[in-house]
Amino acid sequence: MKTVSEYFGSMVFDDRVMKATFSAKVYASLKQTIDEGKELDLNVANAVAAAMKDWAIEKGATHFTHWFQPLTGITAEKHDSFISPSPDGGVIMEFSGKELIKGEPDASSFPSGGLRATFEARGYTAWDPTSYAFIKGKTLCIPTAFCSYGGHALDKKTPLLRSMEALNKQALRILRLFGNDTVKRVVSSVGPEQEYFLITKEMYDARPDLRFTGRTLFGAKPPKGQEMDDHYFGVIKPRVAAYMAELNEELWKLGILAKTEHNEVAPAQHELAPIYSTTNVATDHNQLTMEIMQKVASRHGLVCLLHEKPFAGVNGSGKHNNWSIATSDGQNLLSPGETPYENAQFLLFLCAVIKAVDDYQDLLRISVATAGNDHRLGANEAPPAVISIFLGDELTAVLDAIETDTPYKGAEKTQLKLGVHVLPKFNRDTTDRNRTSPFAFTGNKFEFRMLGSSNSIACANIMLNSAVAESLKIYADKLEGAKDFESTLHEMIKQTIKDHKRIIFNGNGYDDAWIKEATEVRGLLNYRTTADCMPHLLDKKNVDMLTSHKVFTVEELKSRCEIMLENYCKSVVIEANTMIDMAKTQIAPAVEHFAADLAKNAAAKKALLPAVSCTYESSLIFKLSELTDRISFAADELQSAVIALHEVDGIIPESETVRDKILPKMCGLRLACDEAETLTEKSYWPFPTYADILFSVR
Ligand code: ADP
Ligand code: MG
Repeated sequence: MKTVSEYFGSMVFDDRVMKATFSAKVYASLKQTIDEGKELDLNVANAVAAAMKDWAIEKGATHFTHWFQPLTGITAEKHDSFISPSPDGGVIMEFSGKELIKGEPDASSFPSGGLRATFEARGYTAWDPTSYAFIKGKTLCIPTAFCSYGGHALDKKTPLLRSMEALNKQALRILRLFGNDTVKRVVSSVGPEQEYFLITKEMYDARPDLRFTGRTLFGAKPPKGQEMDDHYFGVIKPRVAAYMAELNEELWKLGILAKTEHNEVAPAQHELAPIYSTTNVATDHNQLTMEIMQKVASRHGLVCLLHEKPFAGVNGSGKHNNWSIATSDGQNLLSPGETPYENAQFLLFLCAVIKAVDDYQDLLRISVATAGNDHRLGANEAPPAVISIFLGDELTAVLDAIETDTPYKGAEKTQLKLGVHVLPKFNRDTTDRNRTSPFAFTGNKFEFRMLGSSNSIACANIMLNSAVAESLKIYADKLEGAKDFESTLHEMIKQTIKDHKRIIFNGNGYDDAWIKEATEVRGLLNYRTTADCMPHLLDKKNVDMLTSHKVFTVEELKSRCEIMLENYCKSVVIEANTMIDMAKTQIAPAVEHFAADLAKNAAAKKALLPAVSCTYESSLIFKLSELTDRISFAADELQSAVIALHEVDGIIPESETVRDKILPKMCGLRLACDEAETLTEKSYWPFPTYADILFSVR
């Protein structure tokens, strides 16, 4: 059997393969493209394509695909085989540089939010050489960006790459000001921790709500949930362990650095975390991870649920986006340094993030907004919809000292001057692990915890990179023109702390008192739903910032806003329709059967013993009929609300109607059905209960 180090990355056309197969010239030229973004010439592309094809065929591949990430949230691929007819009736296997660099899938069935109306229906995919090609099944997958013919991005990778470029550009300006002339590139890195549920396929198949919507729309609280805290980090069951082992193997073959696995808080909930990598690679890898999680589950008779809130009343699933910025020579710019000089630079980058998060709270909230994640944000296991930063006591004290010109406790009793000479050394704060903060500094990186488990991490990182690029730009503009670098730097940092300290909060983010303070005293935003936040994508300040860094065009932003809201409405309407169907054709009839049998029993008892009261049966029948009436009424009401939605014009009013009219009616219907579940004899209940599902994997 091969060891992990022997098969790790065996399905990836990575640097090792490139070095071994390319001529020195081709290798050097491609490396320049990968590391420095230099344009690739066609001769090099042809050589790369030929080598890739030979390598892939040797590994058993017959097809290639431009693998891309349309706005549906999942990945897309159209397979073409390598075959090309030869004159003798046979075939030869071909793959040209042109085919590598550019593809032309029909864009018309992917969401474009109006971009198609004004531009051509066709789209094209363009190779992203910074993310390695890989083999999945029998197909060579080439990571690509997906654009319309007018050049508008129709995917998540394009703006992500643009945002990384923006961050690189502005961060380099800052580094130059600090006298660093050698660094060539600055990149953001991400390690996304992925949560998921594993249930058995039998349970999944028996629940229309899970099959159609990915979450349960009904279900009374089971007698045992997560109250014992006995699942978190608990012993992994053999069936789950077998799943995890095969998952790791598949991921490792694809060069994905799956590192940590453990049980999560809720029963049947688990987590997988990779070692961090460059943001666009981490994004590709996370998309692949989600896909492979589901595929491997099906081989084990299991289903992997990636929905943010598959079960009410137990924890939902998120994705913690650990994010930092590093130079091409490996210096983490969010790591406090050894010297005052390094610390001044660190504090500037720290302030850039603080300013970015405060100025663009709305964009960060928008970047994680989906119908599914709305159920999670603000529930008791997830950060609230209010964004704040946790810095820990030590850094907060440093910032306080700078703001108020008072001595910092850790320093000799000198005033804390930020000049590159006088700033004292301070320790990395590694002690505090505040888990309730949506945006926590964890020593040398930030952990953005609002992402939902099914979200592409591209969206959050696009906004994060862009917003930080904007802060850095403002700083660089000031510093480049400054007469006295040190005092300008000092004043700028001080001012940032003054202006943005409202976003720093080290307390319990789940506390109701905090939400009150955040919104009423500090004036922080609290967009509870997708419908609340999404329209703000088009606020002038957001459009100005994102277009000035060339991350999005105005048209792209408009189209994305529309697509995201459409997605929100469609998801909820599908849920509503599923509920109506389940309530009318499964739940109400089941309750009726039970009540009818109770009535039959009571009649039989009475016939035998006229003196018996049958109080049990009659009071239960009474309650059950009241409930079936309520269920039927609530289902009709919900149905009318869904029908009425057709009359609403415009995507924003439509999303507001979904939020205000449909979602509350869904809750009403659920309440009646869940109550009926607690009164109905189990054998009548038409599908598995929470207890059945959550404890199904043994
Ligand atoms: P937790 O305690 O939250 O589980 P860990 O320390 O295990 O956190 O790290 C979680 C994730 O953070 C991992 O994916 C790890 O690779 C990633 N990570 C560590 N350092 C960095 C960094 N500098 N930039 C981005 N991600 C990082
Ligand atoms: Mg974490």
